[in-house]
Amino acid sequence: MSDYTDTPELKRRREELVNHLRGRGIKDERVLSAMLKIPRHFFVPPEFIDEAYNDYPLPIGAGQTISQPYIVALMTEALNVENVHNVLEIGTGSGYQCAILAELAKEVYSVERIPELAERAIKVLDQLGYSNVKVKIGDGTLGWPEYAPYDRIMVTAGAPKIPEPLLEQLVVDGIMVIPVGDEYSQELLVVTKVSEDGKVRVKSLGGCVFVKLRGEHGWR
Ligand code: SAH
Repeated sequence: MSDYTDTPELKRRREELVNHLRGRGIKDERVLSAMLKIPRHFFVPPEFIDEAYNDYPLPIGAGQTISQPYIVALMTEALNVENVHNVLEIGTGSGYQCAILAELAKEVYSVERIPELAERAIKVLDQLGYSNVKVKIGDGTLGWPEYAPYDRIMVTAGAPKIPEPLLEQLVVDGIMVIPVGDEYSQELLVVTKVSEDGKVRVKSLGGCVFVKLRGEHGWR
C-alpha cells in the first residue's frame, strides 16, 4: 500500500472539505474532527486519490461506492455516537464510515457481504491502527447477534424496509440510521426504538440514493 501516504496538499484539501461540510450545515465538532483526521484517500482506489476530497461518491470496485462525504457527515451526526457506545454498521464497503465511527464509539462491528471489499477494508483499518473495530463477511440484514445489543446501528445500503433482526439487536432508546425506499431512491430515516416490543419513532432527513441492501431481510 505504498501509494497511500498523507501529504500537506491532501491535508489541505481535507480541511477545505470539512469547511465545506460546515457550510452545508454539519455542526457536530466530533464528526467534523473525525473527518479532518481520517485520510479518505486511503479508502479509494489509487486512480481516485485526487478526487477523494470532493463531495461526491466514488467507485470502490464490485459495483459498490464509498458514500459522499456530506452523507457520511449527516448520517454520523444523526447517529449521535458517544464514546461508551457499541455500534453496528451494515455495509463496510471501503471501511471509511467504519473509521469515522471508530473515532467516536467504544467498539464498532461492521458487516460486509462482498469478501474482497471486507478484506481490503480490514487492511486499511489495520494500517490506520483501529483496534476497536471488528469486520465480518456475511449478510448484515441478519445483524451480528454475537455482540448485540447495540446502542447505535448504521446501515449504509438502501433497504426496502427496516430489517427486523436489526431492530431486535438495538437497545431501547437506541438509534438506527438507515436509507429506506425503492431501488432508485430512498429516504434517510433516523429510527429510535422506544420499547422492547419494537415500537419506533421515525424522522426523515430527506431523500438519498444508495446501492442496494441485498439479503434475507433486504432486496433478494
Ligand atoms: N459504508 C461504506 C459504504 C459502502 S456502499 C463506505 O464507507 O465505504 C454499501 C455496501 O453495503 C456495499 O459494499 C455492499 O456490498 C454492502 N452490502 C449490501 N448489502 C449488504 C448486506 N446484506 N450485508 C452486508 N453488506 C451489504
